[in-house]
Amino acid sequence: KYVLWNGKILDQDDKEVSVSYEDRGYQFGDGVYEVIRIYQGAIHLLDWHLDRLFYSMKEIDIVPPFTREQLIEQLRDVIKANQFQADGKLYIQVTRGEQPRDHLYEPNLQAVYYAIVTPFEKPVDMWENGVTVMLQEDIRWLRCDIKSLNLLPNVMARTTAQKNGYDEPLFYRDGIVRECGASNFFLVKDQALVTHPTDHHILGGITRKQVIRLAKELGIPVYEREIDLNELEKAHECFLTATPLEIVPITQIDEKKMNGGAFGPITKKLFRYYQEKIPEDLFS
Ligand code: PLP
Repeated sequence: KYVLWNGKILDQDDKEVSVSYEDRGYQFGDGVYEVIRIYQGAIHLLDWHLDRLFYSMKEIDIVPPFTREQLIEQLRDVIKANQFQADGKLYIQVTRGEQPRDHLYEPNLQAVYYAIVTPFEKPVDMWENGVTVMLQEDIRWLRCDIKSLNLLPNVMARTTAQKNGYDEPLFYRDGIVRECGASNFFLVKDQALVTHPTDHHILGGITRKQVIRLAKELGIPVYEREIDLNELEKAHECFLTATPLEIVPITQIDEKKMNGGAFGPITKKLFRYYQEKIPEDLFS
């Protein structure tokens, strides 16, 4: 298996493929990442993912170790080197680089990055049965718009959800529903979609963006506005969106069953249309 390692395509067992203990990603989580879907060897919605990766680097002041064109070329190379033609995921991570441990970073550090391709099983079980979510107070920082490596609150929330018999956390802050632990949240009310606006409280999901685009094509109105916690009671359907999961119905929020615990009709329509449109946004 081959990895993209700081611009080179290397065997995963190559001794160059190793991280210094003084890498700031390792010590501080000082870095950013992307997860991209691959369908039959082709990359999905690459432009939007690259826009977000460059945005995340800019916001935390990492000097990109590649140009956009170089990275695209290298991502193609790593897929090619693995002769990867199946369904998979592409993980890209960029950390600020190495230096003696100090909160203050040195200017012009050489950022460290890698990308790997992994095969991926479609989450058919979730598509058939949906997921249950547990409301939890959002204890994350106030720059959730940056796809940062610091995922400890997400890890803790997911664990708490699982321990309580739920699949995923659903975060709220100041009485407003924000997003799930690793996905965006939508509700359906009166045949329209409502989802949190893109600001520092949520990650601007690529799947969220695609779903909004597709909903508009289908003539389904979309409102990007804050959702009050007590609106959940009146929602007709709810679903979450994330790159690996696409669209997954939420069948239960805390004790309350949504849409009788089944896949709602608007969610289903969007799910089908999403699948149908995948070939239009592939890059290889
Ligand atoms: N929100 C959070 C906190 C996430 O971690 C993710 C993805 O991992 C998303 C939303 C969904 O984003 P995307 O659709 O780009 O995968």
